[in-house]
Amino acid sequence: MIIYGTNGSLVRTVGAEPELACPACTTPRAMRLSVFSRYLHVYWIPLLPYTKPAVAQCTRCGGAWEASELPPGAGEVQQALRRLKKETRAPWWQWSGLAVLGAGLGWGLLANNQDERDTAAYVAAPQVGDVYTIRSADSTGHAQYSLLKVVGAQGNGVELVANEYVTDDAHPLQQLNFPERYAQESFPLTNLDLRIMLNKGELTDVDRLGQ
Ligand SMILES: [Zn+2]
Repeated sequence: MIIYGTNGSLVRTVGAEPELACPACTTPRAMRLSVFSRYLHVYWIPLLPYTKPAVAQCTRCGGAWEASELPPGAGEVQQALRRLKKETRAPWWQWSGLAVLGAGLGWGLLANNQDERDTAAYVAAPQVGDVYTIRSADSTGHAQYSLLKVVGAQGNGVELVANEYVTDDAHPLQQLNFPERYAQESFPLTNLDLRIMLNKGELTDVDRLGQ
């Protein structure tokens, strides 16, 4: 369950200019104008502001009006209220949830892009010690993952040993990358083979661990 709702905060209050009189009790200089900002929150973290109610209040008789509720003849109060509302911005912290979300999304995209670039670069120039994550499907079509380790790299190809275990974990390195889990005998693949596997999504990741 996601807990969300709205909340508001007072952004600005001004004691009014001398010419503003209360529409109810006509006391001069008694009007106080305030602008609030309402914002959406998720788990009480402000997400974004969405409206700015402005209120005129008489400090003498206690009467209070929003701009649209002011009686006819209170045009000056209404104008002052609208002007103040226009000049007032929602406080920056009411955007903090959206800012955090945006930053997180941006970072995720960058990290993902970087990882894809690394994988392509590593496949193009293999080194001994590289470990490839290989995806295949079992008889029911579920993805399975295993590892291939580069034990020789020269010219147009690599020499690989296959891990003898599979897992449904898409990042099987922690689970499978132990020397005793690899086959004794190696087999060759060309760099073109590797590139084709990468393009087909059979080779999903490269970890360059060194020798
Ligand atoms: Zn009044």
